Amino acid sequence: MSSLVRRTRATLCLQFATKSIRSYLHRPTRHFGSRVVPRHEAATAGLYGFHHLKTAAGFRRFVDDAIERCAELVDHISTMPSSAEIISAMDEISDAVCRVVDSAELCRNTHPDREFVEEASNAAMRLNEYLHYLNTNHTLYAAVKKAEQDGHLLSKEAHRAAHHLRIDFEKGGIHLPPDKLDRLNQLNIDIFKLSREFGENISSDPGHVDIFPASRIPRQIHHLLTPIHHLKSGSSSGLPGPWRNVKEKGFRITTEQRTLASVLQWTADEEVRKMAYIKGNSVPHANLGVLEKLITARHELAQIMDCTSYAEFIVKQNLASSPEVVTSFLRDMSMMVRPKADQEFDKIKNFKLEKSSENTVDLYPWDEAYYTGIMKSSMHDLDSSMVSSYFSLPNCIEGLKTLVKSLFGATFHEVAMAQGESWHPDVLKMVLHHPDEGDLGYLYLDLYSRKGKYPGCANFSIRGGRRISESEYQLPVVALVCNFLGSRDSSIVRLNHSELETLFHEFGHSLHSLLSRTDYQHFAGTRVVLDFAETPSNLFEYFAWDYRVLKTFAKHYATGEVIPEQLVESLLGARDMFAATELQRQVFYSLVDQTLFGEQTAPLSDTSSVVADLKRQFTSWKHVEGTHWEARFSHLLNYGAGYYSYLYARCFAATIWKKVCQEDPLSLATGTTIRTKLLQHGGAKDAAEILHDLVGDGVLKHHGGGIVPDTSSFLEELKLVER
Ligand SMILES: [Zn+2]
Repeated sequence: MSSLVRRTRATLCLQFATKSIRSYLHRPTRHFGSRVVPRHEAATAGLYGFHHLKTAAGFRRFVDDAIERCAELVDHISTMPSSAEIISAMDEISDAVCRVVDSAELCRNTHPDREFVEEASNAAMRLNEYLHYLNTNHTLYAAVKKAEQDGHLLSKEAHRAAHHLRIDFEKGGIHLPPDKLDRLNQLNIDIFKLSREFGENISSDPGHVDIFPASRIPRQIHHLLTPIHHLKSGSSSGLPGPWRNVKEKGFRITTEQRTLASVLQWTADEEVRKMAYIKGNSVPHANLGVLEKLITARHELAQIMDCTSYAEFIVKQNLASSPEVVTSFLRDMSMMVRPKADQEFDKIKNFKLEKSSENTVDLYPWDEAYYTGIMKSSMHDLDSSMVSSYFSLPNCIEGLKTLVKSLFGATFHEVAMAQGESWHPDVLKMVLHHPDEGDLGYLYLDLYSRKGKYPGCANFSIRGGRRISESEYQLPVVALVCNFLGSRDSSIVRLNHSELETLFHEFGHSLHSLLSRTDYQHFAGTRVVLDFAETPSNLFEYFAWDYRVLKTFAKHYATGEVIPEQLVESLLGARDMFAATELQRQVFYSLVDQTLFGEQTAPLSDTSSVVADLKRQFTSWKHVEGTHWEARFSHLLNYGAGYYSYLYARCFAATIWKKVCQEDPLSLATGTTIRTKLLQHGGAKDAAEILHDLVGDGVLKHHGGGIVPDTSSFLEELKLVER
């Protein structure tokens, strides 16, 4: 619906689906003090620094003013001014709309006050309706087409903006006859509603299993589960007096993803793992129907847009250009990973056999996390609490400061917020500052888990960078949101290594926004083609694995001792032990996504059997009858037909790391290259051109009319090909 506005997707920022799954702690919500701000307080700013948002109801005025400003700009464009003016007015419309929609999105996901959340939802809904008016406005479309044809009068970036705007209008169906446009609009509304329903079903029906007695559950996950009691079987009869009603203690496992992941990793009792796995992978049942409707609606939408499939509709804008290119890339990767994944499967199975008293064993999906966890920690002598002792959160934030200092010669420090600017006492505001260039942008850090907050980790855009005049640049504002356990009140919050990696990943997205210097906010930071968007974030993950980087900030919380190199070696060893299994899973997810939204060769009656067939064909693991994990795979909504982008990014990042960063990851020279050849351009330059200018040959290949990543650095890193 919002084709005019290229928004950063919150889901950009989800990592691979199996990552970032952590135990979840419910803590009491804390509210701001008074939301009613006295008039005389001049230092009051309003949420995110927007003066409209001093109160929740301010969202209404925020929308009104954005619409009013847009109307003025539409009037101006309708006078057909110069092409350059048309494009800058279009970008200002987009800016006015984006700052409201993006603020509302962040607010909806993180604000502890229900009133703010509701007003933010309403604001987003109202602006979506207005966007529909803009997206189908023929005056604007004609102006953009004129500007595109006047290409020689424009800067390269302005011409690119004109071209993209024209395509975005057409993606919204403006060129269609009225009956088709009506149908398209209806489908977009249906898809929006189905996506919401899918997400709501996931939260409202997480599933549960009850386990008795409590001793079947390992102590370290007790705090994640709910204690329950029942009458011990047989206890109500046959026993005398006081023993007649003996209660037995057990646990209820709510099978939402974080808890399920902990249960599968730590529970020795196979029957418990099996029950939890099956329940967790067969809820919410209602989503099977929702998914089927969603696939059907997207397919019809694609056909109205003259595409044979929704995958084609999505992928044709991306580097890959067509679903055939994506599928062939995925199939190749699947074949390359298969032998090693099979070996890893056998290794896990043999380990299970060694630990078992039986003569033969079968290996099931509920065994994977449990046995690989034991194998990793025993082989590499890893104790997770020991690892965490080097990653106190203040140290990790020091790590982010070290990165920007070494790479960009910039500082990253906390600044005070005006009253009303923050949404929770845990939030910090940081400024990225360069000694010669001044302030470069602002980043809010909202890092701790709390009830009602968006459960994943994400980088939210609040305001995109754009050139206002020769001398003035609108500085970008973003928010990095995570879900670490604890709060800034508890003096010692320690991350595990995977959380550190996530923090660096999201920081890569933040830097993409903070350091891009595009003329138009339409191209700011992460507003790039989908299969390129995850590249900077995947690149920054590498810094979390390099000893030269880690030794600068990873110090023991009590003794100050620098993390031992041997420990980092062990972490790397553990990471690599089952790398093929993990990669195979990602390839499988990507294939499911491409297949479900690909050409519909037969009527779609049973997504589950399609998924089960792909699992049998492309993984080393069994499909468990009756399970359908896709009912909880929310990437199908946000990343529909685009999940492969994560694999593209991993390949690109591997090559960039190897060729640009590995030799000296913390030098100004390395940072300057990353900044000037990658981050600074946002989406203002063609992604393939960016990659080529950054790395030279050997980062991508032309294949079947599209672009695929060169996989050699990535596969070499995973030891899937010989050096
Ligand atoms: Zn990401």
